[in-house]
Amino acid sequence: MLNIKVTRTTSPKKKPEGELGFGKIFTDHMFEMTYTKNQGWHDAKIKPFSNLSLSPATVIFHYGQEIFEGLKAYKDESGKCYLFRPDMNARRMNTSAKRLCMPEIPEEDFIQAVAELVKTDRDWIPTNPGTSLYIRPFMIATEEFLGVAPSNEYKFMIILSPSGAYYKDGLNPVKIWIEDEYVRAVRGGTGFTKTGANYAIGLAGQEKAHADGYSQVLWLDGIERKYVEEVGAMNIFFVIDGKVVTPLLNGSILPGVTRNTVLALCNSWGYPVEERKISAEELLTAQKNGKLEEVFGTGTAAVISPVGTLRFQDEVLTVGDGKIGTLSQKLYDTVTGIQLGTCEDPFNWRMEI
Ligand SMILES: *Cc1c(COP(=O)(O)O)cnc(C)c1O
Repeated sequence: MLNIKVTRTTSPKKKPEGELGFGKIFTDHMFEMTYTKNQGWHDAKIKPFSNLSLSPATVIFHYGQEIFEGLKAYKDESGKCYLFRPDMNARRMNTSAKRLCMPEIPEEDFIQAVAELVKTDRDWIPTNPGTSLYIRPFMIATEEFLGVAPSNEYKFMIILSPSGAYYKDGLNPVKIWIEDEYVRAVRGGTGFTKTGANYAIGLAGQEKAHADGYSQVLWLDGIERKYVEEVGAMNIFFVIDGKVVTPLLNGSILPGVTRNTVLALCNSWGYPVEERKISAEELLTAQKNGKLEEVFGTGTAAVISPVGTLRFQDEVLTVGDGKIGTLSQKLYDTVTGIQLGTCEDPFNWRMEI
């Protein structure tokens, strides 16, 4: 159990009205705790949202020792607040920490910190359909030192951002670019962690896709550049000839909470499910034979993001009839229903706070 000291703001901000967008507005408070080699984690506090003051020689600015998480809080009509599977985020944060030589955080402390901060700012949880409070826990190396070595000091922080409906006009399929020049992750690298570096090296591919009118990149494996791995911030699923297929976790793919959720639901509904290697060639062939029935991305931000167009080299494939597929819609309705408390929760994924 953390002993969290709470200092409330004396000048609360005005709550936003109208469109929230994503990641632009921040609540009144933040969580912060400090790690030093001698004391371990200590000084846990919730305090007014404020800027940081760090030496220009701080490790984070030079060698990128940083990890993060992303989850959401929801409020139902009666005002009850929920988190969705925060234990999965707590565990993954520690997987990332180990890979980046950073200190782990006890899972129950991570969940307690998230829950306490969300409760402090519970009036900031939006309630319009499709909206939620996005939660961003992150850890940075804070030692003042230019040598290349794991930092001896860290800060773990959590900030909150009310976010709007991802889809303003319903679940419209997106266009995805299969990237065959740049790679995101390699075997033995950091693909399975949530670290800022993975995003920094993905920007060039993303810019290339944007320039051509595609909204996201689907990355290929870094060795053969043959097998599809995942989208920028989403895992990827295909319905091929009645089977639900997704790339096998191989160390260069991020193990998404939503991916795990979708697999569990599809299994419980009796769909044939396969986790395996999927080549871009296989997708081309399946599409030509009329067997590529649905494609969708999964991630906390969008939940389910239907894909309508895939581009690989000179081939542009359309998926389905340009509308969201049956399974994609069923998954979206079920997952968001469980998150909001309007659907039964047979796996006990929802946590009331
Ligand atoms: C966060 C993330 C995902 C999705 O994970 P969820 O836990 O479902 O939100 C997928 N890919 C990458 C690279 C990510 O960073």
